[in-house]
Amino acid sequence: MKIYSQWIRNSSPVNRLADFKQAPQSTPDRSRRAVITSGIALLLPVAYSSTAAATGQKNEGIIVQPATQGEMAFIQRAFEMRRKAIDAGDQAYGAVIVRDKTIVGQSWSRVVLDNDPTGHAEMSAIRDAARRLNSRDLTGTVMFSSSRPCPMCEAAAYWAGVVRLVYGRGATNGGAPKLLRC
Ligand SMILES: [Zn+2]
Repeated sequence: MKIYSQWIRNSSPVNRLADFKQAPQSTPDRSRRAVITSGIALLLPVAYSSTAAATGQKNEGIIVQPATQGEMAFIQRAFEMRRKAIDAGDQAYGAVIVRDKTIVGQSWSRVVLDNDPTGHAEMSAIRDAARRLNSRDLTGTVMFSSSRPCPMCEAAAYWAGVVRLVYGRGATNGGAPKLLRC
């Protein structure tokens, strides 16, 4: 039992199924509880895979651009990201980074999925844009959010070079991001 508990703690969900297949199928002291625990371990990769499929876990696919390039289309995409967050069981926020009327980064909240308290949708969208552009300089970009960015995300936008914030269903113009919000 102790070995199985340790194995479950140390194994990633993806590897558990493979590990389990290699684990001894019968040991003299194998208790009923160990059998149940092993069964749960078997089910875990299935649940993990379902979540990954539902959320597009890596968020690395090509960004499909909206049919129109107006602000409402980008806000709509931010709300599509918000929907993905809800479907994934994360916090209900989405964000998009736009440069020259093209979406260069987008994300939903990753706080719960990644156990990352800084994984707000805006932070994740900034990271996504920087990765896709292979640059830490997002000068000239506009950030669209499903709701007004928190001070952490606004400061991150400031450091990234985002020139303007737009948020909410009405596409409220939030102006240039500030390092310190008064
Ligand atoms: Zn935030």
